[in-house]
Amino acid sequence: MHIHVLPPEVASQIAAGEVIERPASVIKELLENSLDSASSRITIISSGAGKSMIEVADNGTGISAEEISLAVERHATSKLNNPEDLRKITTLGFRGEALASIASIARLTIISRTPASELASKIIVEGGHVKGLHSLGAPIGTTVRVEDLFYNVPARLKFLKHDRTERGVIDNLVMRYAVAYPSIQFSLTQENRNILTTSGNGDRREVLAALYNPQIARQLIEINFEDTSLIVDGFTSPVSLTRSNRREIYLFINGRPVQDKSLSAAVIKAYHTLLMVNRYPIIFLFLTLPPEKVDVNVHPTKAEVRFQNPDLIFSNVQSAVRRALLAHKTVPGVLGEQQWMPDSSQYRETTRLDTDWRPVDSHRFPQTGQENIIKPSISPPLVDFQSRTTLLLRSIGQIISAYLVAEGPDGLYLIDQHAAHERILFEKLTSDRNQSFPSQILLEPAVVDFPPDQARIIFEQLDILTRLGFQVEPFGKNSFLVRSVPAILENFDPEDALRVVVEDFEEDESPLASQIDKRIIARICKKAAIKAGQNLSPEEQRSLLLALESCQSPRTCPHGRPTMIHLSVDLLERQFGRKGSR
Ligand code: ADP
Ligand code: MG
Repeated sequence: MHIHVLPPEVASQIAAGEVIERPASVIKELLENSLDSASSRITIISSGAGKSMIEVADNGTGISAEEISLAVERHATSKLNNPEDLRKITTLGFRGEALASIASIARLTIISRTPASELASKIIVEGGHVKGLHSLGAPIGTTVRVEDLFYNVPARLKFLKHDRTERGVIDNLVMRYAVAYPSIQFSLTQENRNILTTSGNGDRREVLAALYNPQIARQLIEINFEDTSLIVDGFTSPVSLTRSNRREIYLFINGRPVQDKSLSAAVIKAYHTLLMVNRYPIIFLFLTLPPEKVDVNVHPTKAEVRFQNPDLIFSNVQSAVRRALLAHKTVPGVLGEQQWMPDSSQYRETTRLDTDWRPVDSHRFPQTGQENIIKPSISPPLVDFQSRTTLLLRSIGQIISAYLVAEGPDGLYLIDQHAAHERILFEKLTSDRNQSFPSQILLEPAVVDFPPDQARIIFEQLDILTRLGFQVEPFGKNSFLVRSVPAILENFDPEDALRVVVEDFEEDESPLASQIDKRIIARICKKAAIKAGQNLSPEEQRSLLLALESCQSPRTCPHGRPTMIHLSVDLLERQFGRKGSR
């Protein structure tokens, strides 16, 4: 075979493949065009899961009759002029590729009218060739219709997922833009059924209420952070409202939905020790930063970005979320109660979206017929973070040498003695960051050997270890001489004490150095905390409860598991049939 230049049709189909992967990609590009054209209303209609027909109509600035044929040419754009512009992109589109790409793999019709013109123009393009161009009467704005997507690239069609999945992806996409642009009125109709309509009144919480339900929207905590080069705002869920995966962590940068693993990791870390293991928050986070500080031209569908200074951004985002979370006032008992004992009919009525798209974990809500199963709320907040008024627990006793039983202002509390002690030690050890920890000098220094990979970890963490009360010196290739250990680990074998530290590093690497010592401390606390199976005297029980009460985050251990289970008065009364609907 000889080298030859590809025919234009093939070349443009290949290029289109980069941008248009599936029906939702078409909608994304058309939506972004509508948003770039200062529209206040955008209507999206799709049928056949977007494969038969997609139509996006807006009331924006339109395309003039003179330019409409240019709009469908490759690399034709009104959004960039010179190479400089590429470094500070302020529009969602900029490559001038979308319409040309769509035109090469579908039948494209555009009807558009600018405010200056009496008439609209209509252009029809098929397989990249203009099939018709004329004027007609139409309102100001642009309507783009895309029919028979991938009709000339059957391979693509075959790789699409089930219709249900493609429809779900469309729902999710439109939903993200609707939250990002609450001042724009969005309407999405799929297979003749309205999926989502927003009012465009600028109230983001109202959009969230339409997506989830008013109860959930009301609980979300507002985030506001601003410094000279970064604004972070959005909504995040209180610790009582979590998910089993991170799919509801939505990130937006300068109005653009993006995926960024490190940024979402930073956000999740803001919840450190507040959530149970494998539980994740619901987050809609909007970052606004000068366009020159973020490169959006790194991914074909613009789904990923590159920050000029990621560490600074991540730590600012993390503290913004953390601060909002800790400042959040919750009503003790009420929210936890709502999560576990909802009147399920109420939820069903207010959930507007249907079976195709389920943002709400349905398993969280008990099905009818299950109401009589005890579903205790997991530890509602004991502490009001703003005023730090602590609710008092009255010790009743210890059961199976593992749990403390206590009475609180709103019912009964079962406290896991190990988890509670871990929390107490952890807060004590992290309360003063600059102070070094009490240390216990060993009578006989001990030589401890590790496999090379673990030895390397210890070697790299010697500074932190010293601060935590370890006195450890390298001693040969993979050995260390331990002269002292943290006082709270004095009862352990030095090798055991040091091993705790290494184990912590074997899995995921933290992007923020400040988290590393927290994690080592958490491991030390776990090691040192009283265990299940240990009998506690009434005096010891009381002082444990007292210390737990004054913790900042008394409800979870440093690893995120609950320290307590709450059986509210209300729940008890319902279970005993004194109250409730039955
Ligand atoms: P890009 O958005 O990267 O510029 P597109 O191929 O998506 O490239 O669009 C090409 C041009 O067509 C845009 O630059 C814009 O001038 C015009 N255009 C497309 N859609 C619209 C719309 N809905 N309203 C106004 N102008 C539009
Ligand atoms: Mg575009």
